[in-house]
Amino acid sequence: MSFSAEQLKNDFPILTQIVNDEPLVYLDNAATTQKPTAVLAALETYYREANANVHRGVHTLAERATTQYEAAREKVQHFIHANESSEVLFTRGTTTSLNWVAKSYGEANVTSGDEILISVMEHHSNLIPWQQLAKKTGAALKYIELTEEGLLDMESFHAQLSEKTKIVALAHVSNVLGVINPIQEIARLIHARGAVLVVDGAQAVPHMPVDVQELDADFYAFSGHKMVGPTGIGVLYGKRSLLEQMEPVEFGGEMIAMVNDQDSTWKELPWKFEAGTPNIAGAIGLGAAIDYLSTVGLSAIHEHEKALMAYLWPKLTAIPRLTIYGPKDTAKRTGIVTFNLDGLHPHDVATAMDMEGVAIRAGHHCAQPLMRRLSADSTARASFYLYNTTADVDKFIEALLATKEFFA
Ligand code: PLP
Repeated sequence: MSFSAEQLKNDFPILTQIVNDEPLVYLDNAATTQKPTAVLAALETYYREANANVHRGVHTLAERATTQYEAAREKVQHFIHANESSEVLFTRGTTTSLNWVAKSYGEANVTSGDEILISVMEHHSNLIPWQQLAKKTGAALKYIELTEEGLLDMESFHAQLSEKTKIVALAHVSNVLGVINPIQEIARLIHARGAVLVVDGAQAVPHMPVDVQELDADFYAFSGHKMVGPTGIGVLYGKRSLLEQMEPVEFGGEMIAMVNDQDSTWKELPWKFEAGTPNIAGAIGLGAAIDYLSTVGLSAIHEHEKALMAYLWPKLTAIPRLTIYGPKDTAKRTGIVTFNLDGLHPHDVATAMDMEGVAIRAGHHCAQPLMRRLSADSTARASFYLYNTTADVDKFIEALLATKEFFA
């Protein structure tokens, strides 16, 4: 299919809205993405035609719901190239996925004197679970620093990696800098030392082809809502050999094989991790999102975002007294740009832009250690996706210039 962001936009009913008397230009896609009609329809069809609890009933609706829920798992498997669908666990989102790894794998495998290695560009979701694990076990939490340019500093990585490193947890793509980290290379280097690699793929899976086997990630986490799917559903991929050794994090219905008075046994993978009634509609909606993104093509989406950045860059860098964080080379970025206008608070910038119908984000972007490295309390961030057009870029620049003028 040939790629046309203008045409794709028509699939997203929310984007036809007028906001503050202006057509909406939605540039907060790193926070969450809008949903196409196909995903909205899948949710409605599920509730209208198949709603029942999964894995329990023998009646027709229960079988229908179970079949659709498990079909969604297979869609995820193929989408991220997992070896088998039982390596795909449904969670609430990236945050839950990362917490599960820290709690289950971490607490069983990390002890006092060990080291956990993360980077200074991590989202709090891939930072606090490791901080908590370090506190609980007496392990040390170490940080890979950034280069001057704003990339992961491989010298710092080599300096921090040691025989004591048990877990390395890294963002595939930074939600602030938009840079893509060399996950495959890092996997090779740390596996040689016997450490496991946990990847936060929240900003990668929606935007580019991801193959967990090629990357050789041990665990890989992402969220449905950032990839045109529903909120409240996400994925934890884990290699079977690791998931098999791990204890569930939550206990209750659905995940048991046998319950005795004093002891119980668990179901097979993946169900031993999915206690209670899962987000069935969410999983089915995520399956529909995967169908939608696959039809468009992940490589095409990635190329489109790079083209938008290349179009944006000369216009943005021409604005005086504007600081852009991260690499100046757009080839090293996905469709995320974080910036500040000298003398203006990013919240004022985002509020003024909203008056022009342009939705951007302002704040610390759940990355306070990174903000400190950038010497900023907060920043403004525009993040693009498949439905954003060059006209959206023009409107963004126009609104930014109007904002600057307004506060001058
Ligand atoms: N990791 C990264 C890089 C993110 O950008 C986000 C969300 O902004 C998360 C983790 C957390 O995702 P969720 O809130 O869906 O759990």
